[in-house]
Amino acid sequence: MKIIMLGAPGAGKGTQAKQIAEKYSVPHISTGDIFRANIKNGTELGKKAKAYMDQGLLVPDELTCDLVVDRISQADAVNGYVLDGFPRTIPQAEALTSALASRGEKIDFAIDVEVPDENIISRMSGRRACLSCGATYHVEFNPPAKEGICDVCGSRLVLRDDDKPETVQKRLDVYHAQTQPLIDYYKDAGVLRTVDGTQDIQKVFQDIAEILG
Ligand code: ADP
Ligand code: AMP
Repeated sequence: MKIIMLGAPGAGKGTQAKQIAEKYSVPHISTGDIFRANIKNGTELGKKAKAYMDQGLLVPDELTCDLVVDRISQADAVNGYVLDGFPRTIPQAEALTSALASRGEKIDFAIDVEVPDENIISRMSGRRACLSCGATYHVEFNPPAKEGICDVCGSRLVLRDDDKPETVQKRLDVYHAQTQPLIDYYKDAGVLRTVDGTQDIQKVFQDIAEILG
């Protein structure tokens, strides 16, 4: 099962993608997590990506597309995957479509998690991230068992640099300009499904599970 998560930054793509990955036994592939791991490890890619991420801008397509095409070619992705945060531009979607078409494959579902902009700022300021294992929490809506500590790996949780309110507004603008057009792209491809992302986390997941069957 090959799934794409669509939606604004903070809509809940990562939160849902983790649960989908677990239920359907497919890898969760988050380009944001891949970039953050590269930043943490001080790689060349990480240095380049950080300059864009800190400003709330997208990392250029030429640094992103090959990375994802390589990742979905790995052995653990043979039965499918959940892509979270990719594609984010029409050229990325086209690169993915043609990489898949060259193997006779296609995306099965593009799930758009719909959340209005006015809910996003409070979601982002309350998000706490584990930069070691990629787990995500919310101080109010999805708190860890012990404040500030990751339930999964015990690392310290942080407020991501790009979750500060001044950067979030920029990311929302970038989303509307560059990523929202993907909704029509996948509608035209006949694979778009929409869920109401303002519901609580478990209800959103129930709706997604119904779609995926
Ligand atoms: P995205 O991957 O789309 O950027 P996340 O999954 O990281 O978004 O979610 C953003 C923040 O909102 C996190 O702090 C998360 O715990 C919280 N969150 C996710 N889904 C919901 C929901 N349905 N209701 C309330 N908060 C949520
Ligand atoms: P995320 O963790 O999905 O919120 O992504 C965090 C940041 O990483 C984004 O604001 C972008 O700067 C960068 N990023 C992640 N995925 C992509 C992508 N597919 N294309 C371009 N930039 C990306």
